[in-house]
Amino acid sequence: MPHISHVAVQTPAHSAVGELLSYTCDEVLQPGTLVRVPLGKRELLGVVWDTPAAPADIPPGVELRSIACVLPGIAPLSRGWRRLVGFAAHYYQRSVGEIAVTALPPQLRDMTAEQLTRRLAPPKPAKAKSSKSKKAQAEENFEDAAAAIAVAAPAPTTPLVALSAEQTSVFAQIEQNPGPFLLYGSTGSGKTEVYLRAVQALLDANPEAQALVMVPEINLTPQLQERFVARFTPQYGQEAVVSMHSGMTNPQRLKSWLAAHTGRARIVLGTRMSIFASLPGLKLIVVDEEHDASYKQQEGARYSARDLALWRGRDTGSKVILGSATPSLESWYASDGEVGRYQRLEMPSRIGAAALPRVRLVDMTQQPKRIVFSPPLIDAITDRVKRGEQSLILLNRRGFAPVLFCADCNWKSDCPHCSAHQVFHKGDRTLRCHHCGFTQRVPFACPSCGNPDILPLGKGTEQLQEELERLLRNVQRPDGDPARVARIDADTTKAKGSLEEQLAAMHAGDIDVLVGTQMVAKGHDFRRITLVAAVQPDSALYSSDYRAPERLFCLLMQAAGRAGRDALYVKAQGSAPEMWIQTHDAQHAVYAALKRHDYPAFAKQQLQERLDAGMPPYAFQAIVRADARTQEAAQAFLSAATQVAKDAGLPYLDEVFIYPPIPMAVQRVANVERAQMLLEATNRSALLRFLNSWQQYLHWLRGLPDHKGLVRWLVDVDPLSI
Ligand code: ADP
Ligand code: ZN
Ligand code: ZN
Repeated sequence: MPHISHVAVQTPAHSAVGELLSYTCDEVLQPGTLVRVPLGKRELLGVVWDTPAAPADIPPGVELRSIACVLPGIAPLSRGWRRLVGFAAHYYQRSVGEIAVTALPPQLRDMTAEQLTRRLAPPKPAKAKSSKSKKAQAEENFEDAAAAIAVAAPAPTTPLVALSAEQTSVFAQIEQNPGPFLLYGSTGSGKTEVYLRAVQALLDANPEAQALVMVPEINLTPQLQERFVARFTPQYGQEAVVSMHSGMTNPQRLKSWLAAHTGRARIVLGTRMSIFASLPGLKLIVVDEEHDASYKQQEGARYSARDLALWRGRDTGSKVILGSATPSLESWYASDGEVGRYQRLEMPSRIGAAALPRVRLVDMTQQPKRIVFSPPLIDAITDRVKRGEQSLILLNRRGFAPVLFCADCNWKSDCPHCSAHQVFHKGDRTLRCHHCGFTQRVPFACPSCGNPDILPLGKGTEQLQEELERLLRNVQRPDGDPARVARIDADTTKAKGSLEEQLAAMHAGDIDVLVGTQMVAKGHDFRRITLVAAVQPDSALYSSDYRAPERLFCLLMQAAGRAGRDALYVKAQGSAPEMWIQTHDAQHAVYAALKRHDYPAFAKQQLQERLDAGMPPYAFQAIVRADARTQEAAQAFLSAATQVAKDAGLPYLDEVFIYPPIPMAVQRVANVERAQMLLEATNRSALLRFLNSWQQYLHWLRGLPDHKGLVRWLVDVDPLSI
């Protein structure tokens, strides 16, 4: 009598196939075992989810296929890991198989059992010659240096700095209390040092314990990685600190994953995906910059790694530390004394008594028309260059100009496939759509009327750089060289290693003025910046997204946090760090709060608005989105979905408010029309239960001939933008 296993596999997107598939096998497989199973003509990676205690009677006529093989040499995934995956699937309305399999390193999906056996084998002495290509060899040879994680060589153990009074007290609180904690600390207050101490205390006390440290975008913070490597590898060995992020090669990802799964890695540093790492000894989770939107996965299973961190922490008895200078309103609310779900810890002062930069608002209505840089700002930047100090200019729009325009006939460089403009990139004379990627050469004349004089409208980072180079062309650095202006954005950092190179040039002082998008505003510990300027931040204030002011405030606070970080440097220079904001709305509450560095006042006012409007965190939301060939078809699916919920009398429907479908803000992308529908409830579990019972109806609807034109539908629970 064969045994039966229920296996989680990733079935084709949105198929209505049940959660788990049944297979037979000759032995009883422990839950969590990694297997390969046949599905149709393919063989897929799967995770044994449960094994019915008694060998089930197979109904007559049903023939179960047998498991193809058990992945050799990998211990079953823990019960805790499976609970996490199960919860995420349930909460974010996806299948267990999809979450489980996408959480595993891609190579496990692709490799045969033989390849894996070879990969896990201890390295053999190098053979004379092989017929395999270099690439194939590098991909198979696990110990290949190519596969090693690129980290700076560990520095010799440096003596620990003495903690500041605020750090000392916060660290003691973390040691004594269960958490979860919201570490609300100014930029440069030494939050990272607190994380390092908390991890250190844990590893020293418990030889099996593991810590997960999450950051928004690991590529943007190589410094953090260096600090962890320098701190822990001398004591705990090279493999103690591993990374997990999408910028790594597949062999690197497998290597890190195995190190964590086997417990050899003590610290995993990763982006949102690392929340699903297999960490049998997990005892501490740090979520740095917890407010950052990149913790939310925006494709496939739309999970929030921050929220899952809190769940996983509770489930596994791990301490959770959320850190930010500008917490999300959700976390701020949860750490409010009255709500009290998180313990709020505060570090208001910067290390070394460095002052937060003075915020200066430039009222652009009083400045010459159509200028990008107001004269006083240019003067301030010029002074910095002459003194050898650095400036950072922030503009969240890459390219040269957001649109090209013909004044004769009103032609605009619209993307033919999206309801968006194509952005003018001057460097390579292209028009590029930032939504679908469609790229064209810039036309010599207006394609509509032939006017040769088509104009760029609006500003992007490329133009800012050009403009600054022109304005500063006669300004000299202290060494007599002309001022150097550089730019960091998604366009200048495409090549591997180029971001690191440009950041290194900034740290080395080779750059005087850095123009960049939000990429440069966050996290970096720049030592010589004394001026930060946001040249056109206003547009976010008029966005329809209710989170836009919060995001703008966070971004500007973060950006301000790049200035004057080194108190000794600032003092030696006799300089005064400044944050400049050019605005047409100098009275706006966001700027007023920013001027006082007053996050609590800002949060209070925003939370009151949210309460009045019945928005999160006082309500819970989900979005159902439909993509189709036509807007009508997309909306028809959503209307039908509402109708079917009513017809079926789904549970909790009376506690969930379903808004009518509307087109998305960017309605068409890559020739697909997009519509969405908002669901709201004051009771989270009512919303969740309703969604869970609705799923099968949505699958069923999608299969009907009426909805043939539908491309896809998806559910987004706790959406970040509506
Ligand atoms: P945050 O993460 O809050 O922005 P960091 O931990 O990066 O702050 O600290 C800012 C700077 O101060 C870093 O260069 C760090 O090395 C330094 N630093 C942190 N704590 C101390 C301390 N107790 N004594 C001296 N320097 C410190
Ligand atoms: Zn024209
Ligand atoms: Zn497009």
